[in-house]
Amino acid sequence: MKFLFYQKSQLRIIFWVMLAFVTLTGCKDDPILPPSATRDNNLAFGNPSRATTADMNNYLLSRSQYTLSYNNAKGIANWVSWHLSTAWKGSAPRSNSFRTDPLLPANFNIVSSSRYTNSGFDRGHMCPSDDRDSTTDDNQATFYMTNIIPQAPNNNQITWKALEDYCRALMYQGNELYIIAGGYGQGGTGDLGGVTQTIGNGTVSVPQRVWKIAVVLPIGANDPSRVSTTTRIIAVDMPNTNAVNAANKKWGDYRVSVDDLEAATGFDFLSVLPASIQSGVEGRVDTGPTQ
Ligand code: MN
Ligand code: MN
Repeated sequence: MKFLFYQKSQLRIIFWVMLAFVTLTGCKDDPILPPSATRDNNLAFGNPSRATTADMNNYLLSRSQYTLSYNNAKGIANWVSWHLSTAWKGSAPRSNSFRTDPLLPANFNIVSSSRYTNSGFDRGHMCPSDDRDSTTDDNQATFYMTNIIPQAPNNNQITWKALEDYCRALMYQGNELYIIAGGYGQGGTGDLGGVTQTIGNGTVSVPQRVWKIAVVLPIGANDPSRVSTTTRIIAVDMPNTNAVNAANKKWGDYRVSVDDLEAATGFDFLSVLPASIQSGVEGRVDTGPTQ
């Protein structure tokens, strides 16, 4: 049987050609492509201590992998700030090569890895090695000693590490995170027992407490503008001692509010957010899952 002037086989071909045309042209501006992870500004949520290159104890040091404020008198950072998304991830091996930071001016207290040797404290990363393994250079950058603080081994290897792992788990669930971390106070307890004020012949201060803030957002653009009162913000404040994990304590047991950390450190976190948003999110203590 004939349909107009075409054979059945010709109609079948015309159908498939039209279907292909509609499908291909329809894809060109498809609005429901999933958003892809990008590398964003490590300091997008603000400079917590208004660090500048004019102040040796609040010295702004920026590299593509993270931004920090260096405290020359303490020999450690006041804080380190970085962005985490799968765009920073890859398969570069762990460098494990701790080294002096070449971005510090020559007249500074330039801490070498050997100052930590036999101190009873770990060389504890702020921006973790595993958050920066896209390239060899990215990973190596996390081993500059300005990104390292003397951290009690049980803190670094157990409680703190579990939070680092959890932040990457949130990343793999489709999120990007803005993380700020540091220490405050002086005097920690490492493998040698007692309370240690400084290591490296007095050149490196041992923090009494270690803290971290993580802002968790679904992958997207214009990140600070997407923060609302329902945005998950994890803040923790833990003792820099080997007893941190005693009585089966986990990182989740050390959750505090951002306001608590602002009071403890004197810094203003998330300062790019409008005051009304800051007051809405900084008083909360996270109650979400911990693994
Ligand atoms: Mn660590
Ligand atoms: Mn604030």
